[in-house]
Amino acid sequence: MTTTDLHNPADGSVLMTLDLLDADAVDDAVARARTAQRAWARLAPVERGQALRAFADAVRDHVEELARLEVANSGHPIGQARWEAGHVADVLTYYAAAPERLFGRQIPVAGGIDMTFAEPIGVIGVITPWNFPMTIASWGFAPALAAGNAVLVKPAEWTPLTTIRLGEIAVQAGLPDGLLQVLPGRGSVLGERLVTHPGVGKVVFTGSTATGARVMAAAAPTVTNVTLELGGKSANVVFADADLERAAATAPYGVFENAGQDCCARSRILVQESVYERFMELLEPAVAGVRVGDPADEATEMGPLVSRPHWEKVASYVPDDAPVAFRGSAPSGPGNWFAPTVLTPSSRTDRTVVEEIFGPVVTVLRFSDEADAIALANDTAYGLSGSIWTRDVSRAFRVARAVEAGNLSVNSHSSVRYATPFGGFKQSGIGRELGPDAPLAFTETKNVFVAVEDGPRSDQQSVAVEDAAQEESA
Ligand code: NDP
Repeated sequence: MTTTDLHNPADGSVLMTLDLLDADAVDDAVARARTAQRAWARLAPVERGQALRAFADAVRDHVEELARLEVANSGHPIGQARWEAGHVADVLTYYAAAPERLFGRQIPVAGGIDMTFAEPIGVIGVITPWNFPMTIASWGFAPALAAGNAVLVKPAEWTPLTTIRLGEIAVQAGLPDGLLQVLPGRGSVLGERLVTHPGVGKVVFTGSTATGARVMAAAAPTVTNVTLELGGKSANVVFADADLERAAATAPYGVFENAGQDCCARSRILVQESVYERFMELLEPAVAGVRVGDPADEATEMGPLVSRPHWEKVASYVPDDAPVAFRGSAPSGPGNWFAPTVLTPSSRTDRTVVEEIFGPVVTVLRFSDEADAIALANDTAYGLSGSIWTRDVSRAFRVARAVEAGNLSVNSHSSVRYATPFGGFKQSGIGRELGPDAPLAFTETKNVFVAVEDGPRSDQQSVAVEDAAQEESA
């Protein structure tokens, strides 16, 4: 058995040493999951809904405990962590209604009756990143369970504690043994085995684009279905006619939430040339005002980065000669502290403009007109989210339709609502999570045709075949 030390990002201390499962554990987990899934799928839809509602209620009873655990393990500010735990309960409640609303269609065809069934896939693997451990796990397991599947969750190695606790709460709330299992282990070992295991019918992976591409390749030999939620380099486009005060006041939230460790971070601010100077004057105090500090403090808005290796990666984008326009403040001393940083690179192809930094670092670039803004927004391999600030409704719609990204907001930085679909264009991923259709992504469509004697015969091909058969027998 291998182990890993989990650290508190706020002071670098070792929180605990966790046992990690090896790849063989997946065999046993899949077998238990399959047994549980068969019984689960046979339950009446209303019973599955009740079980998910009980799970949601149990999570709600543990919001404070889960939030405190996330503060310690991930360094999330306590207010944000509470929101995340509550969001898990909301996601479960939303999908608790799904089993009774998941039905097929009856399709008019010649010679009989045709209908479709939404059949559960079986065992689903959910592989999550370290940045939003609880919420992203729930986006996979809640709709998958609702659709009649069992789920195996592999949390990220740095931040597994809240996901492990959610697995325990599920059992305490009465979810059948083996139906939802949390398997802590290394991505390259246990994660890879989950993807290649023939008993796993679908994998939902959230993480970096590079690892997502590896997961997709590993899933190919068994033709395993994948949903991929990957990286981003989203644009925050500010037009001259925007409410500049609001755009500047909220821009830090758009990029520095969760210390910028957010796939939806608006990490490229694009400002129309004519208002650039004014926007920067407004942005500076907004960045200075971000309260960075102890994540357990109720007033804190931004905590530390998740780990020392990640801090080093982020710091590599801000060398001593970096074009820093201004920075906010951050505590000194132990802990992975990084001050909110605004860069004004001279080139549109600078690596800080092109690569996902995944930290509290934002670049600001100028654009000339609407066409230039759209071209600049789309000049990225990614396509996850983005914001458009303008008072012109027609422009808002034109630009929103032209930007190649899965989740756009106008005069807002909102990205995630459990009732609406979430996912990326281009190298930000494949497939969508959340929204009303998410359970369907965890089903296979089965079509059943039932022949009806002396039923309507209007399909020319069937008529011709049957006539030929009659002639032959005559
Ligand atoms: P990684 O891609 O490094 O890891 C994601 C998960 O995959 C982890 O659980 C990891 O395990 C596991 N993993 C690693 N290698 C393999 C493998 N070969 N096979 C199967 N699983 C594997 O991402 P991070 O955890 O570093 O997360 C940050 C990235 O996630 C960012 O790029 C961010 O943009 C993206 N992200 C995307 C979101 C979206 O919805 N589009 C949402 C949140 C994050 P282990 O931890 O043990 O290495």
